[in-house]
Amino acid sequence: MDRSRAPQDPVRSSRISRSIVNSQLLISAALLLFAVVVFAIQPAAFQEPLFFSSLLLVFILTGVALLTDWTPRRKRWAALLPVLDIFAIVGIREAEPQLGAGLLLVLPVIWLARNYGFAGAVGGATLATVAIWGVWPFRGVPISISDFAGLILLPLTFAFIATTTYATSRRSQSQRALLRQQSALVESALVRARKQERLLEEVLNAVEFGVIAFDDRGRATLRNNAHEHSLREFGAPHSAIIHPVIYEPDGTTRYEEAERPYARALAGEEFENLVFWVGSPGEARAAYSATSRQTRNIDGEPDGGVVVVRDVTVELEAVRARENLAASVSHELRTPLTSIIGFLELAVDAPELTSETRRMLDIAARNSERMLGLVTDLLQTASDKDGSLTLAISSCDVAELARQAVESSGLAAEQRGLTVVTSIDRPAVINADPFRIRQVLDNLLSNAVKYNRTGGSITVSVDAADDAVRIDVTDTGVGVSEADQAHLFDRFFRAGSARRSDVVGTGLGLGISRDIAKLHGGSLSVTSEVGVGSTFSLVLPVTTQEAA
Ligand code: ADP
Repeated sequence: MDRSRAPQDPVRSSRISRSIVNSQLLISAALLLFAVVVFAIQPAAFQEPLFFSSLLLVFILTGVALLTDWTPRRKRWAALLPVLDIFAIVGIREAEPQLGAGLLLVLPVIWLARNYGFAGAVGGATLATVAIWGVWPFRGVPISISDFAGLILLPLTFAFIATTTYATSRRSQSQRALLRQQSALVESALVRARKQERLLEEVLNAVEFGVIAFDDRGRATLRNNAHEHSLREFGAPHSAIIHPVIYEPDGTTRYEEAERPYARALAGEEFENLVFWVGSPGEARAAYSATSRQTRNIDGEPDGGVVVVRDVTVELEAVRARENLAASVSHELRTPLTSIIGFLELAVDAPELTSETRRMLDIAARNSERMLGLVTDLLQTASDKDGSLTLAISSCDVAELARQAVESSGLAAEQRGLTVVTSIDRPAVINADPFRIRQVLDNLLSNAVKYNRTGGSITVSVDAADDAVRIDVTDTGVGVSEADQAHLFDRFFRAGSARRSDVVGTGLGLGISRDIAKLHGGSLSVTSEVGVGSTFSLVLPVTTQEAA
């Protein structure tokens, strides 16, 4: 690179220029003061040509300092100014030795030591000393003890001041460099942070879900386009940061202020998929699912949070359509199926049948029963939506119900070569709905048969404690992965292994069974290992209130 054509740094240039002018001004100001004092006490000194011309030289140098454009390249020429100042001050000192002007030499010495490094420090102190000593022979008087201060102490003072000035300026230079480095680091971190912030903003504005973030004082700090769009779409006032009115999942009950998802998030709550409706019933509306997360600062203290809102209108409508379809189809199928089963039962009893025909009718009847079971599940699910699952509580022996369920699943188990083991010792009498409990047990046992391996086993145990009865149905089947276990009780969910197999099912039985268990104040849970088997545990409290 051609250095001579390198562009000048204007900031640096003006700093250098300021420093040179200031230093020279300081010297001329000191000399001006000196001149004023001399004029007051000894005006005759001005008639001395050496005194006057030296003083004039300092002021000329000041003019040069003021008028020159001190670019960094010209900086080293500026060293001539303090050098000439030294000669001027020595001249003044020689013209009027008794006025003590020699002390003013410290000013150019400091200037050289501060701005021209080690060479400046040594050069300045040496030049001042040599100048003082060098003019001595021209005085033509012998050196006396009274000259000791001027000849020895003054140079020592110069050396001391030059050294300390040089050291101090070195230290402040390195501190300045460190500060510059640090400020460059901070600046680049700031640029990076701004870039990331912009990126985040762009990403957030590109996504379809609404995002609203708030700080630890509950002030909204961020809202993305999708959220703004949803607000405007439903006519929220311009100042609103959330929808002013929202409805609960049933679509008609207005959310209480404190129960609103945003209010709960502001109160520090974390939740997932809270559904709410926007838009008045009967008008254009949308369903949203809100998820809240709290954020923490680097010290781990709560720092606000973020709520993500997803439009789930289409999903909810699809679920509703599926349920409606399930309800109407199952309802329509039940009547002809019941009739088919009735006639098949009658036909099986006809005496003129050959054993082969009877066997075939038996199979047809069994499959029709199964089909009725599936259709009943479907219908049950659809009617559950309306909350119509009710219990008819009476005192019943769960141990006996389990025994009956095992007995009726016997044939299916036998066909698959399964061994059924029971551990049912004593009666377990509780207040429950025997029809519903049997429904649960039938479902667990039919699953234990369906999802077992050929030649495997099923164990049914009933443990009656003082406060609860526990029924475990364990199989040696395909098992359920941990990920699938989380959804096993969701309506219409079927595990991957079941979907891939040719085992028929609707994914409804377990959901209904858990609802029944809950209505009894009990629970239904699973532990399972893929390829080893599963245990479904139904726990029922001894005293059951009709909860539904
Ligand atoms: P269905 O059996 O009609 O599919 P369920 O609600 O009874 O519906 O069961 C839901 C899913 O749970 C089944 O599809 C199956 O994947 C899984 N499952 C239920 N019971 C068992 C079991 N004993 N072993 C392995 N998987 C099971």
